[in-house]
Amino acid sequence: MALTVKALQGDIAAEVGGVDIAAGITPEIANEIETVLSKYIVIVLRNQQINDEQQQAFIQHFGPPVKTNAIKELEEATHRQPHLLDIATVDAQGKPLADKSFIKLYMLANQFWHTDGSQSQPPQRLTALSARRLPTVPPNTEYADMRAAWDALPALMQEKVEDLKAQHSIAYSRAKMGLSQDTFSAESLKNRPPVEHALVRKHPRSGRKSLYLSGHASHIVGWPEEEGRALLDELMAHAVQRQFVYAHQWQPNDLVMWDDSCSMHRALPYDAPEPRVLRWSGVRELQPV
Ligand code: MN
Repeated sequence: MALTVKALQGDIAAEVGGVDIAAGITPEIANEIETVLSKYIVIVLRNQQINDEQQQAFIQHFGPPVKTNAIKELEEATHRQPHLLDIATVDAQGKPLADKSFIKLYMLANQFWHTDGSQSQPPQRLTALSARRLPTVPPNTEYADMRAAWDALPALMQEKVEDLKAQHSIAYSRAKMGLSQDTFSAESLKNRPPVEHALVRKHPRSGRKSLYLSGHASHIVGWPEEEGRALLDELMAHAVQRQFVYAHQWQPNDLVMWDDSCSMHRALPYDAPEPRVLRWSGVRELQPV
């Protein structure tokens, strides 16, 4: 193995060395990264000073890249390429996002625990987030290990939830921030209809089961909505207990990559004037799950 792996926290997060994204990676390196990601849910690649072309070339080693043009209201508000999107406190011109604007509220919803791309079918599989501009004291990003959360569920609860499905939608997660359905264009809503996913998944490489939850998950398919919502709330509270959580402290030029099939994450509050720009990219699953 050409890579070096240093655990940062248990089997949740590791720092991986021996990867130079700017120089381009080989399929063998991509496969080694996949192997590391089947043990740890989050990997940190330090000192990756990269441009957009290099980031796009990197993620394409891992599957079909997620297109970032489904939500029309994000257009022009932020830096974007077909497969990149800024998670940022400023717009493409470097101006702070306006209070109560669509983009600001949309980004604020990242403070809810969620799984990237669970509002799609097939859903997102991996995310790669590149630190392009960090404030002096950047806020952490937190990750929850949904395999450990599954393992720690009482057997009766595991049996109860094993075969359930949840409905996920972007309209649901954004409504929590006050972005009602009518703030989305008809086209965006058509691009992002509610989808259903299994509540429990098994990782194809590690064989480990995990809970598949998200801030986009509204209720359990086939259950009365309130009961499903209550169950999802209970599972969410269980899954984000501190023993399952890694808090990533950003360093300049970090590229953090994670497995969305068995993790959740959230942004921590940040509203200081120094801009923060994280450039987001991801790849999706090949099949519906
Ligand atoms: Mn996210």
